[in-house]
Amino acid sequence: MNDHSSLTVKGIGAAPGIAIGKAFLLEHGRIPVPRYRLFGEQAVADECKRFEQAIAEAEADLETIKKSIRSEFKEHAKLLEVQQMILRDPSIYGESLRCIKEERANAQLAVTKSLRKAKELFSSLSNDEYAQSRIADVNAAGERVVRILAGHNHTNLENIHERSVIVAHDLSPGDAIQLQAGRTLGIVTEIGGIFSHTSIVARSLGIPAVTGAENAVRLISQNDIVIVDGRTGVIIIDPSESELQFYANRQYEMEAYLKLISRHAHLPAQTSDNHRVSAEANIEVLEEIVAAKDNGAEGIGLYRTEFFFMNRAELPDEESLYRDYHDLAELMAPSQVTIRTLDLGADKLTSWCPTLEEANPALGLRSIRLCLHYQEIFKTQLRAILRASATARNIRLMLPLISGMAEIYQAKHILREVQAELSRKRIPFDKDMPFGAMIELPSAVAMADLLAQEVDFFSIGTNDLIQYSIGIDRSNEHVAYLYEPLHPGVLRLIKQAVDAGHDAGIPVAVCGEMAGEPLYVPILLGLKIDSFSMNPVALPRVKNLIRRSSMKECCRFVNKVLRMRTATEIQQAVSKMVMRNFPEEFRVFDQNWAENATLPVLKKSSC
Ligand code: PEP
Ligand code: MG
Repeated sequence: MNDHSSLTVKGIGAAPGIAIGKAFLLEHGRIPVPRYRLFGEQAVADECKRFEQAIAEAEADLETIKKSIRSEFKEHAKLLEVQQMILRDPSIYGESLRCIKEERANAQLAVTKSLRKAKELFSSLSNDEYAQSRIADVNAAGERVVRILAGHNHTNLENIHERSVIVAHDLSPGDAIQLQAGRTLGIVTEIGGIFSHTSIVARSLGIPAVTGAENAVRLISQNDIVIVDGRTGVIIIDPSESELQFYANRQYEMEAYLKLISRHAHLPAQTSDNHRVSAEANIEVLEEIVAAKDNGAEGIGLYRTEFFFMNRAELPDEESLYRDYHDLAELMAPSQVTIRTLDLGADKLTSWCPTLEEANPALGLRSIRLCLHYQEIFKTQLRAILRASATARNIRLMLPLISGMAEIYQAKHILREVQAELSRKRIPFDKDMPFGAMIELPSAVAMADLLAQEVDFFSIGTNDLIQYSIGIDRSNEHVAYLYEPLHPGVLRLIKQAVDAGHDAGIPVAVCGEMAGEPLYVPILLGLKIDSFSMNPVALPRVKNLIRRSSMKECCRFVNKVLRMRTATEIQQAVSKMVMRNFPEEFRVFDQNWAENATLPVLKKSSC
């Protein structure tokens, strides 16, 4: 097929689909900082001028970005205002000029030094939360100036107008929510795993993505034509005619198939032998409600509320949270919406969030732990959720990363305090609002029988459950090959949680990415999951397979699978089962699906 010298790079297929288009290189971070001494007064004066011009350019860039922000994200403009202020702050502006004049340092070095000093100062003010929260803003503002001095422009994702494939070393979840589904054809990053939050956002926007593509930024040049296969993780740079033809045909076949099955997406998620489950959507921002409804969501199974807190300069106030939750509930009524309390930390960071020096942030003060530590933030969110629950009475409250009973007792105690306060003020709320726990930690599975007595539902977060049970970082491309949803240990943990929930008479959902993977439908049905919650674009395929499955056959299959010893053995059994039952789904969509199902990429760690 290779009738000309195209180049193929292999990464991790992170969001399915095929993208063909021009590459747009985003160069975040890793700008080399030259260091040299200035000789002579003229050189110092010229360097001061160059620095002043860079500051003015950075200010103008921020102003342009502020003006282009879409109305629904207007509040995010405050973040840019803070950065504008930082550019003129004496600790950066004055100190950089001093360093150029007195130490005769070149401008990039002077800015880098003053940034370091400012950050050290903020870090030392450990009891000053406001100062701590400015570190990320200082970084962002400083990086912009360093880039301008180095002749690299900082690209704002919202300002990419050409339809293109974004190629970057890394994209933060905050960057990812700025992506425009219509304009971003595909995404390629050098780092990140299949279950990182950036990959999840790409999937929910329906943008094909490949992560962990080592050296992509070096190998791909601006405007190169690239093919991105978000399933297999293959990237072809400067493809030949025959490669273009092949992938264009595949793209056409997939789109035609999706169009066909999407016509039935509104039908209930009911197996051929009449077992009814619920198929719901995971969303990060309210704009996704349209996609959720269009794709047949029967409710919102997971609203990741932390994304509303990201990309902004300050904590959102109770009123803006209330409006957000109220709109969500109203737009989805009478279907239920599950609002998960703040799950910040690890890879989901914000500028105002207390910056902690943690060696292992995934094991650190994140999620419910952060909320129980900073109770005012938690209470404000609970008040907003409770107030929003009054109108349509369709809100369920869900706590992430529960590790045991103590956190449930503590969270319930705080919830009762907030309820009592609202009652005193005669502010209405839904007194029967269901209260649920995410099962994401092995300790929560071990305690599931007791936890089930305290909550109204479970939702299994398989992304984190896999991470914490197998002991691998879900965002780390080097151990992505170990990320095995079909690991027998993982399936046993899911079964144990489901059984404990059902024994106590409460429903059990899965809201991790496993629920949106068509391959896993027979396994999750056989494990007796009551509700599948996934990114909206996955709904038509998953619902289609649920409707064509027999519950009896899935239960028999799972009984066999639970006796197997390795992920490979289970993977082979799943392959056989789905190939036999749903051949056309996998012929069209997943030509290499068996290879990619449980082993996203067979790549050894480079260490
Ligand atoms: C999960 O861990 O499976 C989950 C749904 O939560 P998140 O991906 O937001 O951590
Ligand atoms: Mg999680």
